[in-house]
Amino acid sequence: TNELFRKSDKLKVVGQLAAAVAHEIRNPLTALKGFIKLIHTSGTAINPEYFKIIQDELSRIELISSELLVLAKPQAGRIHSLELQEVLEQTIVLLSTQAIMSNIEIVMEVRAGTTTVRGDSTQLKQIFVNLLKNAIEAMHGGGTILVALDLEDAYVRVRIQDEGCGMPEDIVQRLGEPFYTTKEKGTGLGFMVTKRIIEAHQGHLQIRSVQGQGTTIDVFFPSVQ
Ligand code: ADP
Ligand code: MG
Repeated sequence: TNELFRKSDKLKVVGQLAAAVAHEIRNPLTALKGFIKLIHTSGTAINPEYFKIIQDELSRIELISSELLVLAKPQAGRIHSLELQEVLEQTIVLLSTQAIMSNIEIVMEVRAGTTTVRGDSTQLKQIFVNLLKNAIEAMHGGGTILVALDLEDAYVRVRIQDEGCGMPEDIVQRLGEPFYTTKEKGTGLGFMVTKRIIEAHQGHLQIRSVQGQGTTIDVFFPSVQ
């Protein structure tokens, strides 16, 4: 019965998410249909602006699908013991170009003797891509992002500390809500995906944010000795 409750809860969440995704994808699709009809009927003189809009709408659908895809990937057989330090180093390399272009330095500090956890490295990387991207996007004037690895009790703690715009409490409360974004080109999926992957790894997270000063996000994963 408890099991059944959980199942129907899950179905409810899946249903809500599916509805939200369908809604978000239908908007750009409707726009695309409209423009294609317009091009079809407008004969030779096609406004080049249309192609820009079509490209933007297609990119949006592509981005939404790719952000959600990581949730759909099967997990069985993908769970291994791995060094979180290595996963983070690889993620930082992945984002280095974006950081440099934004005048941001990502500094890593490893204070944990061991950073072994069990997990799916692709999904774990996705967590840090999402969090670091948010940090970069919050730091409009450049600065430093600190990535620190520590051991805390039975957990490996990954701290990501930015010097960005920070968030008021009501936004912190809404983090993880699908499609909640304050960015013009945001999807509002990053945090939801991040939270789910962390939960799937028996981890948890803590958020502290001060407007105008920055945000610190601590992610905890059960440590494997
Ligand atoms: P997106 O990045 O596409 O907007 P997210 O789910 O990653 O979606 O984040 C949701 C919102 O949370 C962002 O639009 C932003 O307002 C806020 N946010 C997340 N991380 C940070 C951060 N490090 N600093 C300031 N605001 C943040
Ligand atoms: Mg994001």
